[in-house]
Amino acid sequence: MKKVLILEDEVNIRSFVVINLKRAGYDAIEAGTGAEALQKIKENPDIGVSILDIMLPDTDGFEVCRTIRATNKQMGIIMLTARTQEMDKVTGLMTGADDYVTKPFSPAELTARIDALFRRIDGDAAASAELLAQGPFVMNVKNHTLEKHGERIRLTQVEYAILKLFMQHPGRALSREDILSAVWGRDYEGELKIVDVNIRRLRIKIEDDTANPIYITTVWGFGYKWGA
Ligand code: CA
Repeated sequence: MKKVLILEDEVNIRSFVVINLKRAGYDAIEAGTGAEALQKIKENPDIGVSILDIMLPDTDGFEVCRTIRATNKQMGIIMLTARTQEMDKVTGLMTGADDYVTKPFSPAELTARIDALFRRIDGDAAASAELLAQGPFVMNVKNHTLEKHGERIRLTQVEYAILKLFMQHPGRALSREDILSAVWGRDYEGELKIVDVNIRRLRIKIEDDTANPIYITTVWGFGYKWGA
């Protein structure tokens, strides 16, 4: 179950949030002071989102937010602010919070904000562990590595960038100009021939038969197409 920490010293508000978190399918972890919250986070490193009240008996929510952010950039953080604390919103977001909810708030509003943060966190995790797998090829976008049938193929940075572009656009014909500007940058003033030179080298490394390429095919008078 996804864990959400609620730091709030007012027991009534905290219980109200806990009931609604549970109803929304979250595992609610409670804290009444800043110190308690940091302790709970230490004990539960898998907490995905924390809801932090600002006015607390031992510290304030911004300080707690700063402390969390010093070691944890991943966690979603929502500040609970009172209506009179308009400036707090700005300060809260500057100290590293992702969002804020103004008291009094509806349970639906709070859970919608939490859901959105979890979606973003899950998306980030998927992106950072991204594998592009097509045919016999697996590209690890995080480590910049390529395997064919499980065997590592060593690529130069340019070859890797070209292949990544292909694998992100399977089946689409890419012009040599497209490839040049995506890989070398829009301001690059070199010749299109550099694209062909690198494609030739790439084919030697990844094709079964360089004379009859099947993964990187030539689109005559235009460019190249990836299919695996
Ligand atoms: Ca409070």
